[in-house]
Amino acid sequence: MSTLLFRSTNGQSPAVTLREALLEGQAPDRGLYFPEKFPKLTCDEIAAFAQLPYHEIAFRVLAKYTDGIIPNDALATMCREAYNFSIPLEKIYDRVHLMRLDQGPTASFKDFAAQMMARMFGRFLREDGKQLTILTATSGDTGAAVAHAFHKIPGVQVIVLFPIAEVSESQRKLMTVLKDNVRTVAIDGKFDDCQAMVKRAFADPDLAHIALSSANSINIGRLLPQSVYYFYAASRLAKDGEPIVFSVPSGNFGDMMGAIVAREMGLPVKKIIASVNDNDAFPKFLATGSYQKICPSRNSLSNAMNVGHPSNLARLVAVYGGQMDETGKISRQPDLAAMRRDLFSTSVSDARTVAGVRDFWNKFQLLLEPHGAVAWQGFLDWNAVEPLGDAPAVIVETANPAKFPEEVEKVVGWPPDVPENMLAALKLPEDFDRMDADYAKFKNYLLARH
Ligand SMILES: *Cc1c(COP(=O)(O)O)cnc(C)c1O
Repeated sequence: MSTLLFRSTNGQSPAVTLREALLEGQAPDRGLYFPEKFPKLTCDEIAAFAQLPYHEIAFRVLAKYTDGIIPNDALATMCREAYNFSIPLEKIYDRVHLMRLDQGPTASFKDFAAQMMARMFGRFLREDGKQLTILTATSGDTGAAVAHAFHKIPGVQVIVLFPIAEVSESQRKLMTVLKDNVRTVAIDGKFDDCQAMVKRAFADPDLAHIALSSANSINIGRLLPQSVYYFYAASRLAKDGEPIVFSVPSGNFGDMMGAIVAREMGLPVKKIIASVNDNDAFPKFLATGSYQKICPSRNSLSNAMNVGHPSNLARLVAVYGGQMDETGKISRQPDLAAMRRDLFSTSVSDARTVAGVRDFWNKFQLLLEPHGAVAWQGFLDWNAVEPLGDAPAVIVETANPAKFPEEVEKVVGWPPDVPENMLAALKLPEDFDRMDADYAKFKNYLLARH
């Protein structure tokens, strides 16, 4: 088997291996790396997952991408170490389940990718004897997951930018209590400002001497590990070869692209529901075929999804034969009919998000936080136009309710339990820098640190 190559969605950069795609983050032509061709799992390989623990499924999926790059025994160890927490699949009713991706070290699904990426980065940098700075913009959960995963990894410095007024207190604490090789910077601005500053830094020739990389969902290293939990859910809930429905709360669409990757690798999928908040650029695009990014992005209760222009749409459009550049300009339309057949997308208001948390608790005695509530309402919207029948379905819960204690308490009347791992972090002293949303200042900050 020859080494798998990754191409840029903008089509102007040379194809690279997983190693280069991961370390570079974004392609030189500003496109996003994507596999030239998806490796396939056979029906038998997928059927075997039913008997395997999560880390072993992760190994078998990721090994399809790391051939010739990471030896199998090393990859198996990385998977075992990264995925040592549970992935509860809680029954809602009949064959509909809630998949809780909130049991990792920072209690959001971002841990799944960050834990694996940190191990891959650590390994590649050790092999090359190189140093690297990970620059990442976060609307809350990425920063914490990345900071924890890369904490004390030799050769890596981490700089996290977050919008000061748009993250919850516990989200902030989870990323600002680490020290050593991790720095957090609170920006007086919106998430989009943070993301724009990071993007400019990557493109800035004055910073070319600094080896920068990103751990945002523009990095393909985020997407591949995020395909594994879709295989896992199907292995536990679907009969052999039976198509399954996923409702995914979506912001930059990295999580949802994990489901697409799983499907492209051979997982039978009935529908992927991309549930968004008031930032409804994608459902409008799916309905009309015309793409208008939302600028500035709209604030919603599900703050990790306040994204006006989801970066992964370029990859989604590519899967359907189209081309979209980093600004959202479409030079070739994707096959919209096929997209509408495979996908459903809906926008859920804050009022319906709150109602989702409340109704879900009252009906099923299961506690959601705002992002999971968006996924739930999105599922109901889909189910109102297309019957589920006897098919299995999974609502993806992406964070622990304890990350949004105020919002949850307002709805159900009591504060959610705080998991052990979070309690420890919440007690440590915070330490972060503060800055205007001013690129010149940020640039000087970076130059002073290298
Ligand atoms: C990041 C995040 C999302 C959105 O994920 P994308 O991959 O950006 O679509 C949803 N929920 C939570 C809790 C998150 O942290």
